Amino acid sequence: MGLLEAGCEIEFAPPPELCISILRQSILAVHDTKYIDYLRVAWSHWSQNQNASTEIFPNISPNRHMVNFNENPVALAGWYIADCAAPIGQFTWENSLGSVSAVIVATSRIKAGELVVYALCRPSGHHACRDMAMGMCFLNNSAIAAVELRKQFDRVAIIDIDMHHGNGTQQIFYQRGDILTISIHGDSRDFYPFYSGFENEYGSGDGEGYNLNIPLPKGSNEAFYLKALEKSASRVLSFKAEALVVATGFDTFKSDPLGCFALESNSYYKIGRMIRSLNLPTLFVQEGGYFVEALRENARQLVKGFENV
Ligand SMILES: [Zn+2]
Repeated sequence: MGLLEAGCEIEFAPPPELCISILRQSILAVHDTKYIDYLRVAWSHWSQNQNASTEIFPNISPNRHMVNFNENPVALAGWYIADCAAPIGQFTWENSLGSVSAVIVATSRIKAGELVVYALCRPSGHHACRDMAMGMCFLNNSAIAAVELRKQFDRVAIIDIDMHHGNGTQQIFYQRGDILTISIHGDSRDFYPFYSGFENEYGSGDGEGYNLNIPLPKGSNEAFYLKALEKSASRVLSFKAEALVVATGFDTFKSDPLGCFALESNSYYKIGRMIRSLNLPTLFVQEGGYFVEALRENARQLVKGFENV
């Protein structure tokens, strides 16, 4: 609704079953084949077991002392789902494909010359790793978008403005120098996902220097946040990005139950304006945001800020 109020034209992505081979190709450019095969059939296999729970939760996960792969259904759940915030239900696979379908349409519009497109994805994706679901994310929509854009643009940047570290996106591109990943988030010493998101994670191999984490302390306000965004913007410029993906979370809002920042609705206008000043083809991809009452206004502010430079 907020996007409509900001003047966006709405286009519905095709149902996944009508474009499944295109989606599969794009998904496999980012995700591990065995993981995708697991996601596709996990629930139907699981639900055939007597006394199966209605959703698949990991009961135990591999850890630094136990790493042998095992095809037992309980072991598979722990192998492919990293935490209890990404249960797989009857429609998880179909819904995740719907998000990817939206992203594929959105990237095709950018490739055709649109300056800005907003992909309204649910579920979100930035915690999903190459072969692992976590944090309500199964397929990494922002990463899939970046790889799609990379087919046309030599250098693609991702700025993740969700309140939580975009660990999945970081993991997927950690060794690549052609896709710059930046995440501004609550300091992982205090917030999910706890084990990544620190400043000393720069990338490795060809990707060394192409991952930038900007952790911010609890209570960070607009002035503090915009400074971090300014730093991100200058890195995008020095990288000479030709296209931009913004992993767009609104859980940075002051009232968000999962957030820790103090942004106001009007802050998103300023964020949109700063992103627009980069003057790049820009794809917003919806990530988190849990204070539902303000999502409409915050999305509207972001888009209006982008358009009214
Ligand atoms: Zn988040």
